Amino acid sequence: GVLAPDLTEEEIQESWDMRSVVLGKGSFSEVRLGVRVRDGRKHAVKVVSRRVFEKFQSSRKSRLSLVHEAELLKSLDHPHIVKCVEWFQTHSSLYLVMELVDGGDLLHNILSGGAFAEEDAQRLFRPICEAVAYLHEKEVVHRDLKPDNVLLTEKDRAKCLPKIADLGVAWKSAGSEDSRTLCGTPHYFAPEVINAKHGGYGKKVDVWSLGVVLYVLLSGTPPFEDEWLYEQIVQGNTSSTPRSGSKSQPPRRIWCDA
Ligand code: ADP
Ligand code: MG
Repeated sequence: GVLAPDLTEEEIQESWDMRSVVLGKGSFSEVRLGVRVRDGRKHAVKVVSRRVFEKFQSSRKSRLSLVHEAELLKSLDHPHIVKCVEWFQTHSSLYLVMELVDGGDLLHNILSGGAFAEEDAQRLFRPICEAVAYLHEKEVVHRDLKPDNVLLTEKDRAKCLPKIADLGVAWKSAGSEDSRTLCGTPHYFAPEVINAKHGGYGKKVDVWSLGVVLYVLLSGTPPFEDEWLYEQIVQGNTSSTPRSGSKSQPPRRIWCDA
């Protein structure tokens, strides 16, 4: 069954060397470089410890959620969505093995290099939209589109292409507009996510988040400031004075228990 431990830590170490490099960190996971011992091929391995999750949720739910992410990724096939190779678990952690996308994530690229030139933003943004359209065709709402969840094939802005990652809170909508869970990242929330108590939301929330991503790409700053964030979003009041070169910490994701 899904909840039974499949492997021991020793068995994993025989097949995967994950000791050296941490590629990134999310709120609940660590993504490490994983070299497959058999052929030396590099991958990215998202590791979620059950203990970290258990602070937020029952262990049963949390383990199912990374399995959900892995199985969902495996059912998708798009050049601009990260591919899942396999997943496995031990009694303490869950491992999701993905293709390695080597250029870091878009958030770090913007934090270090500022806004994108229009031409580069255009080259990057179109395939991001195509990937989201593909998700929506499959009735999947991503719900957490933001620059840290867009991976780049290389660091060079004139050449890099995007791959959407982190389907950790993605939702199979079956065509409905009735998700009511407050999840995602506050700065990228659509108004209807903020008002989810009063009515459901659906695919369009991704389109809103794409707009925020485009704003951040072109200006290097978020459109809505921390102060009175929800009021600004609901009223559509973008900040009049962009804080260029702001190095503030990225907003953290609100946990979702849908
Ligand atoms: P979380 O659900 O905890 O936010 P993510 O799946 O977003 O985890 O991964 C966290 C970070 O790890 C990303 O922002 C990115 O920097 C890095 N990362 C994730 N997947 C890959 C990958 N396939 N290749 C390279 N880096 C990755
Ligand atoms: Mg993430």
